[in-house]
Amino acid sequence: MIEARDVKLSFGETPALRGATLAVAEGEILAVMGPSGSGKSTLLHCLAGILVPDAGEVQFAGQRIDTLDEGARSALRRDRFGFVFQFGQLVPELTAVENVALPLLLAGTKRRAAVAEASAWFDRLDLDGLQQRRSGELSGGQAQRVALARGLVSRPKVLFADEPTGSLDSLTGEHVMDLLVSSAREQGTTVVVVTHEARVAAYADREVIVRDGKVTTAVLT
Ligand code: ADP
Ligand code: MG
Repeated sequence: MIEARDVKLSFGETPALRGATLAVAEGEILAVMGPSGSGKSTLLHCLAGILVPDAGEVQFAGQRIDTLDEGARSALRRDRFGFVFQFGQLVPELTAVENVALPLLLAGTKRRAAVAEASAWFDRLDLDGLQQRRSGELSGGQAQRVALARGLVSRPKVLFADEPTGSLDSLTGEHVMDLLVSSAREQGTTVVVVTHEARVAAYADREVIVRDGKVTTAVLT
């Protein structure tokens, strides 16, 4: 479904990826682990067409995406990918349900239909009754579940999650991961989840380690 081949990327003089190779199968839930600064977020951003590598290739569904222009990559992100980040990053001016509806509105769905579809997620993710809250009126766990709903509402082919439980206590984090994995499986969404928590990785089908800008599967003790 998504593949990186010998991807290299530097920020100025700092090499973040030094030849990262990774393939994720359709419907697979993959955990990307590794120490802070090893290149996990940079790899995720390359896979998702947010960053363009200096060298190497990135493919989605058999097509190269690193050679697309910014307009085509942004359309791909909107139409095929969903995103969840560490601190939810909800739009504070919007209500919770408007935040979830946002990807649908950006894709051209009419407001009424978008809000109805977004509302359905509040039941599914134990958020019932919170539709009209703003992000400042939600707990950390609630905000992350709203962010998860926003990531999944457009039924993306791939969900990219960067430390989605990083700001949560462990019980709340497990609840969010549980819902992420069950919702993704239900709709056949492929998931790439960056985490440094082993208990979060335990929800995945497979885990890889990023170390010094390369992907490895060896776990050093
Ligand atoms: P991780 O997510 O594993 O913590 P990152 O992918 O964020 O690692 O970072 C990998 C390396 O690239 C680090 O050395 C980091 O400091 C550097 N880096 C990441 N993003 C930027 C940026 N926008 N500008 C400069 N350096 C960056
Ligand atoms: Mg990171």
